[in-house]
Amino acid sequence: MVSRVIPVDDFDLVIFGGTGDLARRKILPGLYLRALAGQVPPDARVIGAARAENTDEEFRALVAEAIEEFVPAARRDPEAIAAFLSRLSYVAIDATGDSGWPRLKALMRPDVVQAFYFSVAPSLFGALAERLNTQNIAGPQARIVVEKPFGRDLASARALNATLAAHFDESQIYRIDHYLGKETVQNLMAVRFANILFEPLWKSEYVDHVQITVAETVGVAGRGAYYDKSGAMRDMVQNHMMQLLCLIAMEPPYHFDPNAVRDEKLKVIRALDPVPAQDIVRGQYLAGGGEGSYLADVENPASTTESYIALKVAISNWRWKGTPFYLRTGKRLRARESEIAITFREPPHSIFDDASGWKENVLVIRLQPDEGMNMKVMIKDPGPGGMRLVQVPLDMSYAEALGDAHDDAPDAYERLIMDVIRGNQTLFMRGDEVEAAWAWTDPIIEGWETRGDRPQPYDPGTSGPEDALMLMHRDGRRWREIKS
Ligand code: NAD
Repeated sequence: MVSRVIPVDDFDLVIFGGTGDLARRKILPGLYLRALAGQVPPDARVIGAARAENTDEEFRALVAEAIEEFVPAARRDPEAIAAFLSRLSYVAIDATGDSGWPRLKALMRPDVVQAFYFSVAPSLFGALAERLNTQNIAGPQARIVVEKPFGRDLASARALNATLAAHFDESQIYRIDHYLGKETVQNLMAVRFANILFEPLWKSEYVDHVQITVAETVGVAGRGAYYDKSGAMRDMVQNHMMQLLCLIAMEPPYHFDPNAVRDEKLKVIRALDPVPAQDIVRGQYLAGGGEGSYLADVENPASTTESYIALKVAISNWRWKGTPFYLRTGKRLRARESEIAITFREPPHSIFDDASGWKENVLVIRLQPDEGMNMKVMIKDPGPGGMRLVQVPLDMSYAEALGDAHDDAPDAYERLIMDVIRGNQTLFMRGDEVEAAWAWTDPIIEGWETRGDRPQPYDPGTSGPEDALMLMHRDGRRWREIKS
């Protein structure tokens, strides 16, 4: 299978924070890979902008190192790298100062797509947006790309939206949630809306419950100061897991169009019930402290921030009333694994005398590792002995099914940056969506803060705190195993 690459329009892309960690690890290697794939027009340029004084040559050397470090050897082509580096230039700019802007303006071409990637702390978004306007750099077709975190509660997200809206129209603002750029996450929409097979069953009448798991093996060492102010709820649930939940729960949009898709996601978020305290379990690895503990990683001996959270979420609409969505995510768990499991209900009546082997149908969508789908179905246990049932998987690995096309698929950042150039906002969060997600999240966080709840301890390498098991056991259900 051959992967198709559709070239995008000519562009100038400015990366504010072009020397930072995200630019080095994701944005610049991603752009190189798109250029390697032949998607980037010959004249398109990338301009790094950050506080430090660097020459173009110094910036190119930094990007060459980043490609060396973050692009797999098989895709490091010396000619393509040289050609990519020749597209780069650098401007020293302090977001809050006035120098550097005239040089940036002189570098920008007015007749091509202009994109400005704000890969800097959110506290600088306002200053950048304002200067792009007052210095007359951004044309009417300009796009800005902003990174997470988009606020830390409803009030700050609203303030951020208002700041950006003072200078840019919503159609020019691209809020990144890199989960939405993952092939498998986009595939959720294809599976649901390009097959008639699932839709008739996709409702509470047939779906017993949904589990969404994002498990990581890493802790927070190295980024403890940032993480400790955030925690699993703000870092994962309010954004990434919320998006997964929306893609599973939303109604079919009338068209695969940015606003049609985002309208449907917004309706799901607005239909989420408040979550009572008994439906929330927070954990912290080795809470209590000591070597390897969360407290040691964040260097705050009194921190009550959660590195794990499990929640039972209810969606109050016609489709999902009565079908709980269980979400869980955490650090230092047994394995790195992200999946969505849709468990169907029992048949209304069994015609078999011995249905002892019966188990529910489960559709598992694996996001990582080994992306794919697995449908657990019942068949007859082969051989003599009457009609005994056994559950078997109908298993599909994207890597096996799609071969090279899967291996060469762009990673989330590559895909999303090209979407910005194309002007397609489908996979970016709209301002009202982010605000609705915070409106649901805020009371949950305020609840545990007011109660003074402390996170439960759990051991690294496990599947999280004991109480999280109870969250499902008391409903007569169980979590799927996190497999190492
Ligand atoms: P970083 O600290 O590594 O880099 C910050 C960049 O901003 C540097 O290039 C620095 O020179 C520049 N900068 C700082 N102050 C400036 C100023 N006043 N004017 C102009 N430039 C200035 O940060 P990072 O990890 O690259 O993160 C950038 C943004 O991306 C943040 O909003 C972060 O939350 C977000 N983000 C990062 C990651 C990641 O993996 N690093 C993941 C998701 C989101």
